[in-house]
Amino acid sequence: MSEKTYKRLVSELTEIEEAGLHKNERTIVSPQSGQITVNSYGPEKKLINLCANNYLGLADNRAIIDAASAAMRQYGYGMASVRFICGTNELHMKLERSIADFTGHDDAILYAAAFDANGGVFEPLLTADDAIVSDSLNHASIIDGVRLCKAKRYRFANNDMADLEVQLQKASAENPRSIIIATDGVFSMDGYIANIPELRRLADKYDALLMVDDCHSTGILGPEGSGTAQHYGLQVDILTGTLGKSLGGAAGGFVAAAQPVIDMLRQRSRPYLFSNSLPPAIVGGALKAIEICRDGDDLRQKLMDNAAHFRAGMTAAGFDLLPGEHPIIPIMLGDAQLAQDLANRMYELGVYVTGFFYPVVPKGQARIRTQMSAALTTADLDQAITAFTQAGEELGII
Ligand SMILES: *Cc1c(COP(=O)(O)O)cnc(C)c1O
Repeated sequence: MSEKTYKRLVSELTEIEEAGLHKNERTIVSPQSGQITVNSYGPEKKLINLCANNYLGLADNRAIIDAASAAMRQYGYGMASVRFICGTNELHMKLERSIADFTGHDDAILYAAAFDANGGVFEPLLTADDAIVSDSLNHASIIDGVRLCKAKRYRFANNDMADLEVQLQKASAENPRSIIIATDGVFSMDGYIANIPELRRLADKYDALLMVDDCHSTGILGPEGSGTAQHYGLQVDILTGTLGKSLGGAAGGFVAAAQPVIDMLRQRSRPYLFSNSLPPAIVGGALKAIEICRDGDDLRQKLMDNAAHFRAGMTAAGFDLLPGEHPIIPIMLGDAQLAQDLANRMYELGVYVTGFFYPVVPKGQARIRTQMSAALTTADLDQAITAFTQAGEELGII
């Protein structure tokens, strides 16, 4: 028993706590939706929820729950195997086909999470003779995926296409066999949309593949919610996505791409080869979620109407929002403590929001990131704006 190891961990945890960086989890005792019930730190409390990735409001959708239950009753609870041994159910084949059709690619491959999809997508495709050119604000899972691969690494400033070209020139000068440009489709801290037209143009100019992580775009942007590229009438070469946000919010991730890419991932991608296959309930639910999403222009309209309504109300109240149209709406506060104080006061006033501060966002750019959902009513939003206005006045923000 290594007492000194435990002692070191406890002292590091104390440092995290003292730096105000400790993440506390609140416990929810209701389904995920526009309103939730929470029982942390006191009696049960009903709250308007402005921080879920439940963009289309499908997390408690009855048809999805029924489809998941039916799949579980028919195929059981778990697969108890990775895909290539005895873990491939006919539902997995259907879901991969459905994702490929939805996103407009030859084929798709499922992972336990988008974190695993990003973690497993680079290493099978590239070696030290290749190059990855990566946006500096990419999601942690892309950063980890790039680290796990031996390709030469180049970084460009967030969404800065001039810098991307500089990095592509540097990469090309080394004569790599292949180049992949990697970016988020929508940057989750700001809600900014990647410049796909310019990314596409530069990828083609330098004969690179364009890889886009569409976790915050799927279901929201493009016809039928098919993604960031389709929003611009374009296509990417490799798309990674999640089943854990718009598409029902349960779990699971995927890569969609041309056939040779998917075929190689099935042979060599470590999180695919060495991790259990998705359970039937989730796969059956996801099939229904994609159907609802593709048919869900009314949900996307509600989502975008909610975003416009909330933006207008918060701007009129005097808050400083980052501009944009995406349902991620950051309220800029600057100071980390202020972001936490506002989030805490909002909790007391019946609205669940979260403060984000360094190291998640740059120093001095602390914020509360709100996220809209089709599950929120106009009354919910008006109540939230009223509460923000009260708390903002109390704390001297507006
Ligand atoms: C949420 C998210 C992920 C991780 O998705 P999971 O399926 O929950 O692992 C990856 N990339 C981006 C950009 C995300 O926002």
